Amino acid sequence: MDAIVLLGAPGSGKGTVAEDIRNAVNYQHVSTGDLLRAAIKAGSALGEEAKRYMERGELVPDEVIINIVKELIDSGSRDARYMFDGFPRTFAQAERLDEVLSSYGSSVKYVFLLEVARPVLVRRICGRRICRQCGAVYNIHTKRPSVDGVCDHCGSKDIYQRADDTEETLNNRLDVYERQTAELIDYYDRKKILVRVDAEDRLKTEQAIVAYLA
Ligand code: ADP
Ligand code: ZN
Repeated sequence: MDAIVLLGAPGSGKGTVAEDIRNAVNYQHVSTGDLLRAAIKAGSALGEEAKRYMERGELVPDEVIINIVKELIDSGSRDARYMFDGFPRTFAQAERLDEVLSSYGSSVKYVFLLEVARPVLVRRICGRRICRQCGAVYNIHTKRPSVDGVCDHCGSKDIYQRADDTEETLNNRLDVYERQTAELIDYYDRKKILVRVDAEDRLKTEQAIVAYLA
């Protein structure tokens, strides 16, 4: 088993980068945000609980997140390779991840910190649109579908803005990130596995990570 982590503010591009490089680096992309949204869509009790926090831009409680990830790892293959996106987000989550991995004789190999200036984050997130059918991500400023309102990948016309991608909720999410996630940077820096990546330019970011792992 092997694991790497993509760390960065909402809008730093973790999800897009992970999808783009997963084949090249041979890691499975695990987004806790996507897992939670799937639980909400499925109408599970866990989804109902998570929804209340997500709508306000708050973090879902550590126990809920840790259980989801632990279940995924425990039910996965012994030689799985995970690229976590949006997890861990708190110090407690990071410690529990270390415990789970070490029970399999593994540990986090590298943590890539995607660094982007706050005004860029705001612009990216408020402009983000998603295809409800296939999950493809667009941006009204930088990455519109080639036919307006129609998904390039699946042809669906159901392209929406995430409820927590509005300016109000966003400011809260960015504050939460700075408060709770920043201590993770220290934690991983002390372990000497933190790799800072300039994430203003998506392609350069991806090339940097792929090169680092090669
Ligand atoms: P973003 O990184 O753009 O905020 P995500 O899809 O990663 O988007 O997360 C959306 C929301 O899901 C978060 O605001 C939070 O409420 C919840 N969430 C996702 N991952 C975690 C986590 N590891 N710990 C706590 N809450 C989480
Ligand atoms: Zn689509």
